[in-house]
Amino acid sequence: MRILRTIAEVRLAVGAARREGGSVGLVPTMGAFHEGHLSLMRRAREQNDLVVVSLFVNPTQFGANEDLGAYPRDEARDARLAEAEGVDILFAPAASEIYPDGFATNIHVAGVTDVLDGASRGPHHFDGVATVVTKLFGIVRPDVAYFGQKDAQQVLVVRRVVRDLDLDVRIDACPIVREPDGLAMSSRNVYLDADARARATALNRALDAAASAFEEGERDADSILSAAHRVLADAGIAPEYLELRDAETLQPVARVEADALLAVAAHVGAARLIDNHLLSVLRTRDAS
Ligand code: AMP
Repeated sequence: MRILRTIAEVRLAVGAARREGGSVGLVPTMGAFHEGHLSLMRRAREQNDLVVVSLFVNPTQFGANEDLGAYPRDEARDARLAEAEGVDILFAPAASEIYPDGFATNIHVAGVTDVLDGASRGPHHFDGVATVVTKLFGIVRPDVAYFGQKDAQQVLVVRRVVRDLDLDVRIDACPIVREPDGLAMSSRNVYLDADARARATALNRALDAAASAFEEGERDADSILSAAHRVLADAGIAPEYLELRDAETLQPVARVEADALLAVAAHVGAARLIDNHLLSVLRTRDAS
């Protein structure tokens, strides 16, 4: 595996592979790898001739009061883990390589960014994501880019950018990888002390409770959500948001008649955590 720091080096390496007819898979990350990241790398490895993983803690997607400074960083460990997954190139640029002096472009996706994490964290967050992902697509020019369904809204934002800007890349959304007790894996889980770590399982349990109500036939959004609210309250967690929205448009839903995204964000101890379940109307119909 090669660790590359510059855009020019990446272009050269990827260009050589592409001239030989190879397909290129890209996994964008902010590092501090866990099984969630590794699952994306494995899928990319299975499906492509060349696998590029980017490791860049993108400053522009963090708010002034967020955890940019504290965000876990361990490039040597990440490099070992990526190499063990058969990654070909780890692109780990400095911030000045991505945002040189004079950088002045911002990609703003309207609509799907107005709610959930876009509303909680502010518009800079998905602007930062959309802009850096578009740059990574321009640098690597992947055939396929792999994202985690853990960040479901991010997947929708990236899909919108790809459609609207006619980018020639397929977006592959990969399933959420969880700890044995159900907690969604996240680089931010390292912020949890023992008490918060135990309480954090309530997020997935709350979503499970709501999903069970849905699977038993409940279609009223408030009724479905109240099952989740009860679990969070029992764990002493006041969610930043807990919402049911259309899985494609993120419009609010009063009754679940089409696939819906059940999404939660909450501060638990020192960590801000997010999680989600997809409520699939089709799957429920098939099962019955
Ligand atoms: P991050 O480093 O947190 O920006 O994550 C990089 C990629 O890994 C994103 O596409 C995330 O959605 C994905 N990811 C993070 N956590 C998980 C998880 N628990 N399961 C699956 N994918 C994940």
